[in-house]
Amino acid sequence: MNKSLVLEEMKQDKEVVWSNTGKIPFDQAVMKLPFSREAVLDAAERLKRFAPLIMHYFPETKEAGGIIESPLTEISKMQKKLTEKYETPFQGKLFLKRDSDLAVAGSVKARGGIYEVLKHTEDLALSEGILESLEDDYLKLTTDMTRSFFAKHKMQVGSTGNLGMSIGIMSAALGYEAIVHMSADAKQWKKELLRSKGVIVCEYEGDYGEAVKNGRALSDADPYSYFVDDENSKDLFYGYAVAGERLAKQLREQEVIVDENHPLFVYIPCGVGGAPGGISYGLKLCFGDRVHCFFVEPTQAPCMLLGLETGLYNEISVQDIGLSGKTQADGLAVGRCSSLVGKAANLFLSGEFTVQDEKLPEYLKDLWQQEEIFIEPSSCAAFQGPVKLFKTPEGQQYLEENNLKAYMPQATHIVWATGGSLVPQEIRAQLL
Ligand SMILES: *Cc1c(COP(=O)(O)O)cnc(C)c1O
Repeated sequence: MNKSLVLEEMKQDKEVVWSNTGKIPFDQAVMKLPFSREAVLDAAERLKRFAPLIMHYFPETKEAGGIIESPLTEISKMQKKLTEKYETPFQGKLFLKRDSDLAVAGSVKARGGIYEVLKHTEDLALSEGILESLEDDYLKLTTDMTRSFFAKHKMQVGSTGNLGMSIGIMSAALGYEAIVHMSADAKQWKKELLRSKGVIVCEYEGDYGEAVKNGRALSDADPYSYFVDDENSKDLFYGYAVAGERLAKQLREQEVIVDENHPLFVYIPCGVGGAPGGISYGLKLCFGDRVHCFFVEPTQAPCMLLGLETGLYNEISVQDIGLSGKTQADGLAVGRCSSLVGKAANLFLSGEFTVQDEKLPEYLKDLWQQEEIFIEPSSCAAFQGPVKLFKTPEGQQYLEENNLKAYMPQATHIVWATGGSLVPQEIRAQLL
């Protein structure tokens, strides 16, 4: 689709399939990006250092040794359902990466959000001498004395819901005063759950951008406060990127091949961009040009697609082109993308799909009926990827231009389920 056409369709609330003309071979992209492989490895090591502490506060992580990771599940019944229902000539195998079941926070934010809280905690503890070195016993951080030290410090974040949950739950567990600034889109049950854990929830009439702005201003005015900056944080990004190596290991364990003849396609729902950007970067480090990363956004809040297509990144909002920014996919209700992530993604992202809200409950119910897996509406957006890749001329063109057609029968497709396990029973029942 040419430039003006895709923007025109976006303005009309139409679903689009967009391929990224900015993408370059990853070995070239990697040299231009403001991120590094070393920092991703460093993040993975940091998470290992904190594993005993995670087990201490969250005993449900004991079995996994304090490492918060999610299963990768083949969903062949769902694949069959999608193939029939949408008359999609699907090729290859379909998997679900179940970050919806990540321990502690029940969403993809358990990667970036929790990582950033831990990183800041380590920095504080080292500078205060609470930890003497990186080899020290991290359970020292759980003593009453240390907790009363953390209690003098605040952690603040602006969120549409899930980031607030991950930062709030982890910060409160460590003993910090946690303050979450929630946008109007945030679901009531998420606010209640946070309050039940002692987190202070501030509510705003406006959207995500406003919650972030207020939170940042309050935090900046307080020397004992740390602000988790979803739009600009490299730490968040690195926390997400650790997923790359972890997924590569799971694929090996399940004997799924990824090489020149076996392409990997990954579809990730996108809000401000940190989660899908970080995960994609991590995957690209592992698989280079053999992995094809696609973001998926709601038709009323396609902030990343708008930023990429116009080249304006965070200098344009979805409201600027007449869209509402409102969607049932609360995790994706973002009007402006992160420019840090947008500019990076421009170099390695394969493309984007947008999805109308009315499709989300269909994907949600079908997944439940076929596989007995529940995920939240925002997560469901990702199914739009494989459905449209095979069915649309733009999708077919991507496969042709990248010489992939012959290999599609051996392809692996991963739908990234970004949230769901903490959704209360009554809300699940309503959604189903
Ligand atoms: C936050 C979130 C996303 C997208 O992550 P961003 O970093 O905002 O792009 C997707 N799905 C769910 C369920 C989320 O909570």
